[in-house]
Amino acid sequence: MAKVLRCPACGALWRVKDDFAEPTVRCSECQAIFSADKMESVIVPDEKLDERLNQQYRST
Ligand SMILES: [Zn+2]
Repeated sequence: MAKVLRCPACGALWRVKDDFAEPTVRCSECQAIFSADKMESVIVPDEKLDERLNQQYRST
């Protein structure tokens, strides 16, 4: 399982460590900086995440 943050501005997904505790995150896609508290975090199976991230990388 993995923890994922979703950028509220562009919707990009970022995998983070389970003990991720940074107060702010900068999105590598849109360069926006957000409070980690405000970012949506979800726990998903690694399989599904890899699938989603691969799609994301292919589209860029
Ligand atoms: Zn973004």
